[in-house]
Amino acid sequence: MQRFQHYIDGGFADAVNGFDSLDPATGAAWAQMPAATPADVDRAVAAAERAFFAPDWALMTATARGKLLLRLADLIAENAQHLAQLETRDTGKIIRETSAQIAYVAEYYRYYAGLADKIEGAHLPIDKPDVEVWLRREPIGVVAAVVPWNSQLFLSAVKIGPALAAGCTVVLKASEDGPAPMLEFARLFDKAGFPPGVLNVITGGPEVGATLTAHPKVAHVAFTGGPETARHILRNSAENLASTSLELGGKSPFIVFDDADLDSAVNAQVSGIFAASGQSCVAGSRLVVHEGIKDAFLARLSEKAEAVVIGAPGDMATEVGPLCTARQCDTAERLVAQSVAQGARLITGGKRLERDGFYFPPTILDCDGVPDAASLSNEFFGPVLSVVSFKDEAEAIEIANNTQFGLASGLFTRNLTRAHRMIRAIRAGIVWVNTYRAVSPIAPFGGHGLSGHGREGGIEAALDYTRVKAVWLRTSDDPIPDPFVMR
Ligand code: NAD
Repeated sequence: MQRFQHYIDGGFADAVNGFDSLDPATGAAWAQMPAATPADVDRAVAAAERAFFAPDWALMTATARGKLLLRLADLIAENAQHLAQLETRDTGKIIRETSAQIAYVAEYYRYYAGLADKIEGAHLPIDKPDVEVWLRREPIGVVAAVVPWNSQLFLSAVKIGPALAAGCTVVLKASEDGPAPMLEFARLFDKAGFPPGVLNVITGGPEVGATLTAHPKVAHVAFTGGPETARHILRNSAENLASTSLELGGKSPFIVFDDADLDSAVNAQVSGIFAASGQSCVAGSRLVVHEGIKDAFLARLSEKAEAVVIGAPGDMATEVGPLCTARQCDTAERLVAQSVAQGARLITGGKRLERDGFYFPPTILDCDGVPDAASLSNEFFGPVLSVVSFKDEAEAIEIANNTQFGLASGLFTRNLTRAHRMIRAIRAGIVWVNTYRAVSPIAPFGGHGLSGHGREGGIEAALDYTRVKAVWLRTSDDPIPDPFVMR
């Protein structure tokens, strides 16, 4: 079995404890992963803190930081295929997706490399004579980054990139489910030439995340995962009042009006819910479709769903691979069965496939007349689409916003004025109009409500890793007058 190591203080280290990582395509163990102890977490945070204050990082110019990030981006691009194969092996995410996504991850590091020396302070036109006041934007300190198993290289790039561009240092806890790509990424990071301790990569289960996010030396916690874990994180970070950015789940509405380009809408919906086997925080898992086109839309959609190529994740022809864990297959099956028992109509799929590995087929549930269907309100990572129809714009908005989440949304219509009204009314951090699932390093990404707070991507993310210092400099050589009057 392949063995992986932690990356702490610029060196690779075995851990006292370890655990097996399973290949989701077979269910068999394929690699030994290190499990961090509290002492490992402490060592990693101490290394990050030393690095934060060490002159070779603290006094490095932002331009030089940017150049290191550029070198890292080049290394990722050169090794994208190898990283993609590892992610596919360890998480079951299909190679078609990991290859494309990881090549694009390099662009995130390039974007933040370019941004490093554009994170500017400000000069204030202050209301007093003989004084200059300006704002310095300074890095916030040691960042604890905690990521889930899906798209870890991508989800960590939107944390590591802006954090390092801003001058912070990072301890990243890779998910215990499929940590291989992150531990391998650490080797590329090491090659890029950053000072030791600037990034540390460890892994292990919830207890490791809890120790890290409660660590008194951590200034900011950047988390992606589920809302329940986020509540734990907030409690953990309350110890030292660390700031947080939380990228959580969604139950995103995919709204289709009767004037939509149906071919495009069907394709976008297929991508929105069946790509990544539905294991995507922005999955368009609630189809909100106009009643006049519901039957036609579902006929086309189920035809496509049934034609999807299900297979080994390492095969380029595969369109839907296994889910990452057996646990997720159980959850998907349970929630579908519960929804059917509540009255939802199963159009296709619904049961795990009888073969090795954690395979669940594309599934469509008609939930009309069953507003409380379990599949409509529960966020779960699986290729399961719940369908509800609407009569008019007002009802579409009501259904779309009938969720505690607020991450993404999709809207298909050719009516420009309606599109604008809907964009205003939809409560979500992202609205895709006549497209879906597009992302870019330039555009901020994130939500509100149970979908969390803070933004990843764009300039907003880099500012999250800074704090402002107001500097007052008196320019007069005259003695300070009355010491008891504040000026
Ligand atoms: P999870 O919340 O179970 O775990 C995420 C990470 O948190 C893991 O590394 C885990 O070890 C760690 N963790 C668990 N308990 C912890 C604790 N008490 N303290 C600190 N860390 C702890 O999530 P998951 O099941 O691995 O991933 C799926 C979730 O992630 C879904 O809800 C999904 O929507 C969300 N997600 C969100 C985005 C986004 O950008 N908004 C992207 C991908 C996934």
